[in-house]
Amino acid sequence: MSLRPKRHTQTSLVLLLLFLLGSGFLTTSLLSYYASRDSIRDSIINTELPLTSDTVYSEIQKDLVRPILISSMMARDTFLRDWVLAGEQDNGQMTRYLREVQEHYGAFTSFFVSDKTSTYYQAKGVLKQVKPDEPRDVWYYRVRGLDEPYEINVDVDLANADRLTIFINYKVQDYDGSFIGATGVGLAVDAVVKLIDEYQARYERSVYFVDTTGRITLTGAQGGPMGAKVGDSLADVPGLDGLMEKLPTPQSGQFEYREQGREHFLNVRYIPELEWYLFVDKQDKALAGIRQGLYINLLLCLLVTAIVLTLVSLVIRRYQQRIAALATTDSLTELPNRRGFDILAEQALQEAQRDSSPLCAVLLDLDNFKLINDQHGHLAGDQVLHDFAQQLRGTLRQSDILCRWGGEEFILLLKNTDRQAAHDLAEKLRQQCAEQRYEIEGQRLQVTVSLGLSQWQAGESLHTLLGRTDRALYRAKQAGRDRVCIDN
Ligand code: GH3
Ligand code: MG
Ligand code: MG
Repeated sequence: MSLRPKRHTQTSLVLLLLFLLGSGFLTTSLLSYYASRDSIRDSIINTELPLTSDTVYSEIQKDLVRPILISSMMARDTFLRDWVLAGEQDNGQMTRYLREVQEHYGAFTSFFVSDKTSTYYQAKGVLKQVKPDEPRDVWYYRVRGLDEPYEINVDVDLANADRLTIFINYKVQDYDGSFIGATGVGLAVDAVVKLIDEYQARYERSVYFVDTTGRITLTGAQGGPMGAKVGDSLADVPGLDGLMEKLPTPQSGQFEYREQGREHFLNVRYIPELEWYLFVDKQDKALAGIRQGLYINLLLCLLVTAIVLTLVSLVIRRYQQRIAALATTDSLTELPNRRGFDILAEQALQEAQRDSSPLCAVLLDLDNFKLINDQHGHLAGDQVLHDFAQQLRGTLRQSDILCRWGGEEFILLLKNTDRQAAHDLAEKLRQQCAEQRYEIEGQRLQVTVSLGLSQWQAGESLHTLLGRTDRALYRAKQAGRDRVCIDN
């Protein structure tokens, strides 16, 4: 049986542990990562973004839906239509009407543009004449050609220091349905813009409006997503370029997209009154945080796995060495046993072969040991064996191999020792043994030893060498014991 630690057993145990620990750690880390990711995603998609969308929507409704109603009322107003049809006689009447509307409903501006005279009336009086070739009047000629009754237009207000204003431009028709002008109110989008800015600053959300063609119509003061401005098309915004194709008009929903490796959650709500989409966009930072947490977690798991595996390997190796030592040592004499001898002898023979050095084997057998047991008991016999072994070991060189061969027999391998030197040593050992007295339970016991000796011959197997040595021992016993015999 081999006494070398079974390396492959140890390796497979370590691999099994690695697999168990690794898969355990990996499973728990990934499960907790996915659970927190899902809950964060859930809360963003189902709670945070819709809440922002609701708030912005109700604010915009307050700011926009009412003005649409007011403008619609103005377009149907009999005074306005009668005054136009009567030839726009007294400008003061129209101005007063517009001022009344503006003040009563708290609008930012109110206006009427006559198609017949191209005059732009507002609460403070006549502002100007609209002209088809004036870029700022383009809106009027657009409204004139509209199929729908009105449009919503975000523009700067000429009458109010060019402030960003949402105009409700309503078509005015006479009683026969012919177009006679455009009226409506304008309101500064300050409140909505402020709200958007607040959300963007506080919650790191991007809030903006997009029309059905994918053009950005309203953003916070800082602009839209990824620095886009009002008037830009979503098709030009990285990450959002493919989105309009996913939004068959009109459709609300939740979307996710990636932009430069960053995850975005998007809540889109269609606002029928405006024919705009309200976009609430959140770049995910929490997910990046928990992803980082996952990496740290995995790193720690790796570290713990490495420490555990190193400790397990060390313990296994230690135990294997202990077991190997136990299996090759005789417990009574503390000398190597037969197994230990096999290993040591094999090495010694190889050395002798390699260095062409002489090597001798000596078998020692205590004489009439049975009598010691019979007369003094087995324990006394054990003590004699123990003391005899200690004495032997003390006499020999470190390089000499001494083992308990079994029972009261010992074997000695003498490296670098020829037959003569070995014989001298064997004789010395015999003498020493004969002179030794063992003090056991007040008695002085004496024992003699017979020794058989032979020198190893090049190429000879251990088995043959031991056979020859045993024969020499046999002869020593036959010749009367307490002597050394050499194999010849
Ligand atoms: P011989 O001179 O022919 O060798 O006679 P012997 O009595 O020594 O030989 P034998 O082989 O007949 O008996 C060996 C005895 O050694 C028998 C056995 O009880 C004893 N013995 C062997 N191992 C131990 C041991 O570990 N402890 C003790 N106390 N006795 C042992
Ligand atoms: Mg014997
Ligand atoms: Mg004996």
